[in-house]
Formats: sequence, structure tokens, C-alpha cells
Amino acid sequence: MRCDVLVVGGGPVGCYAASIMAPELDVKVVEEHPRVGEPVQCAGLVTPRVVEMVSAQDAVLNRVDGAYVHFPNGRILELNGDGEKAVVVDRGEFDRRCASLAQKAGAEVILGKKCVSVRRDGKHIIGTIGEEEVRSEALLAADGYRSGVSRQLGLAQARDLVRGIEVDIRFKLDDQRKVHVHLGRNVAPGFFAWAIPCGDVTRVGLCVANGEGTPQRYLSAFLEGQGWSGMEKVRTYSGIIPLGHVERTHAERTLLAGDAAGMAKPISGGGLYTGMTAGRMAAETFKEAFNKNDLTEQHLSSYENAWKREFGSELRNSYRVRRVFVKMTDADLDKAGRKFDTEKAKKVLATGDIDFPTAIARPLLRSAPSILTLSPMLILRLMRR
Ligand SMILES: Cc1cc2nc3c(=O)[nH]c(=O)nc-3n(C[C@H](O)[C@H](O)[C@H](O)COP(=O)(O)OP(=O)(O)OC[C@H]3O[C@@H](n4cnc5c(N)ncnc54)[C@H](O)[C@@H]3O)c2cc1C
Repeated sequence: MRCDVLVVGGGPVGCYAASIMAPELDVKVVEEHPRVGEPVQCAGLVTPRVVEMVSAQDAVLNRVDGAYVHFPNGRILELNGDGEKAVVVDRGEFDRRCASLAQKAGAEVILGKKCVSVRRDGKHIIGTIGEEEVRSEALLAADGYRSGVSRQLGLAQARDLVRGIEVDIRFKLDDQRKVHVHLGRNVAPGFFAWAIPCGDVTRVGLCVANGEGTPQRYLSAFLEGQGWSGMEKVRTYSGIIPLGHVERTHAERTLLAGDAAGMAKPISGGGLYTGMTAGRMAAETFKEAFNKNDLTEQHLSSYENAWKREFGSELRNSYRVRRVFVKMTDADLDKAGRKFDTEKAKKVLATGDIDFPTAIARPLLRSAPSILTLSPMLILRLMRR
């Protein structure tokens, strides 16, 4: 088999990129699972701009405009957004929408086959898919957090990870317009727990930092604490989110995007906006590189410059916030909760954009100057963004 671009990974990033390249290039996407979008490993909370990228309005289950943030001492900050802040999607449907766009654009999506190895061979990349070899001119590694491709081609992997688990329970939250975020070392050490309203079902999950054991026992305790342990479990899913992006995401004939490049946002763990934005940029870079017949490492570096311009500083700053956050004790979190619990600060927090969470650092400091004492170095660095 031959193609212009071999995309390893039929997740949203690989398929979205394929849908943009396929009208001009011969693209093959290889996905190890027999059905795109299964198993689901996601809470499905994204900004409306992510849904718009692939016109996946059909996959939207609910729309939210605010949050309740629960602190360890019981304090709850109610954040009332000034409009729609996020939507909840059926992640399986969302991924299938991406794959169908890729197919409609002319890409071949090969399901149920694993790309077991990739190697360079002169001016080609050879991917071994099952028993067959695919000889391609270029390669997009969109193979998620384990990224075998980046390992085999000597590229780095994300610095950190969190382990997540989630369950959909048959229970209707009173307020369908707000998500709940729960903080605390006993709830979800090194991350947070969430409850997302989806009509008659509530999506409850959490992640824990690497080294904090398995998330299952925290989820059981959380469900128990909320009085939800007896509720019918509609389905359970789990997964890993890589955090701390890879600096070098290009090499000769090769680009790396999405979780394979550790592009999930370090504060929230959301990886769809950043990954798919990078997927689009990778696709555009390849199209231009094929036009100019130049797939050298130097030429492909424009991809890395593009995504770093778009959200590189956000990922760096969010990772700095994360490094401070993971060291915070429950008492520190409660102190932060107290400082943010003013009408002015809550108003600013509610204007936040989950794709660019650190963008509100400056107005937040103006609304609550005492937050400077929480971590002066961090806050001053965020001011310099
Ligand atoms: C518990 C949890 C909750 C999350 N919640 C959210 C959220 O609310 N919002 C959000 O934006 N993000 C969320 N994320 C993160 C989001 O799921 C990822 O960032 C996103 O899936 C990344 O897309 P991707 O295409 O890069 O990788 P993936 O979706 O992981 O797709 C990669 C695909 O490649 C396939 N693959 C891997 N290796 C091979 C191979 N060798 N051959 C063939 N196929 C291969 C895999 O099977 C997979 O299907 C969450 C993640 C977890 C774990």
C-alpha cells in the first residue's frame, strides 16, 4: 500500500486532520479499534468552538454556562457565566462525526488494525499495519497518550499524566446549566472531581495525579459522599491524560499532534480544543509542504511555530499553575477559596474561557489582589504572558 500521508490514530485529532488533507492528498488513517469512538475515555466537556470545528451539533447532550466549585471545607463558589461557556458532547458520536468527515473528504479509514511499527526508509516512512506495509511520504502521529510512533521515531513524550475514571449515573442534577467541580486531597489528589449534568444522567468522574494510586477508590468514596453510590450505573469509563506538552513536535516527514504530543490543557485535562487545532495546523502544513515538495524537518517547523503561537504560552502557563496546585494542601485550597469568594472575583472567574484559563489572571488579580500571597512567583509570571 502507498499513500501521501499515513495518519496513525483514528481519534478526533487524526480524523479531523485527515478531513482537511484528503481533498488534496492521498490519506490513510489507521485505527486499532474496530469502531471509531469506542471505548470512550472522556467527559465530553468542550467549548462550542470545538463542536463548530466539525459541525457536530448532533452530538451535543447539554449546554452549560457556569459552575459550582466545591472546596474541602464545604465552601461552594457559584459562578454564573455571561452566556454559554461549554457544551457536553456524546464523545463516541463526536469521534464518529470526525471520521465520517475524513471519509467524505476521501481519506481511507482503516479500522481494527494496529500500526505495530514505523520506520524511515530513505524518502519514505514505512508503517507496518497488521501483516501489511504502508509506504507513505509523510506521517502524522495522532496515536494518543501512549504514542508508540513518537517512541519509535525518537521523539519525546509528555512529562506528566493523570489517571481518570468516570461513571454515568441515572440521576438528574437540579441545575442542568452548571457543572460541579470538587477540590481536595481526599477527593482527587492532584486534580479534581466533576459532576456534569446531562439530563436524566449525570456524568461523575475524577482524575488523580500520577503516583496517587488508582482513581477507582476515590470515585467510590466520592459517590458515597454525595449519596450517589446506590444509583444505577449506566456506564463506566477510564483513561489517562498526558500533561506537559512535548516541545519538539516535528521531524523530517513527521508531525505529532494531540495527546501524542501531550497537548491536553494542564489545568482541566481537556485535550480536544488544543489537539484538534494542532491537527488542523498539521494538515495545512502538510498540504503546503507537498505543494512545495519540501518535507524537510526545517520546512515542517512552521507547524510547531503555528501551534505554539496559538496556545503554546497557555499550555506553559497552565502547567506552571498545575505545578503549584499539586503542592497545595486542603488548607491552602480553602484559603484560595476564601480569597476568590467575593462578588468581584467570582464575576471575573465566571468570564473565564476553558480553552484559555490563564487569560483571566490579570483581571482576577485586580479583582482580588490578596491572591498574590497564594503564590507570588506564579502570579507574577502569569502577568507577563
Ligand atoms: C477521563 C478523561 C476525561 C476527559 N475529559 C475531557 C473533556 O471533558 N474535554 C476534553 O476536551 N478532553 C477530555 N479528555 C481528553 C481527551 O479525551 C483527549 O485529549 C483526546 O481524546 C485526544 O485526542 P487524540 O485524537 O489526540 O487521541 P485519542 O482520542 O486517544 O485517539 C488516538 C487513537 O489512536 C489509536 N491508536 C493508538 N495507537 C495506535 C496504533 N499503533 N495503531 C492504530 N491506532 C492506534 C487509539 O486507539 C485511539 O483511538 C479526557 C480524557 C480522559 C481520560
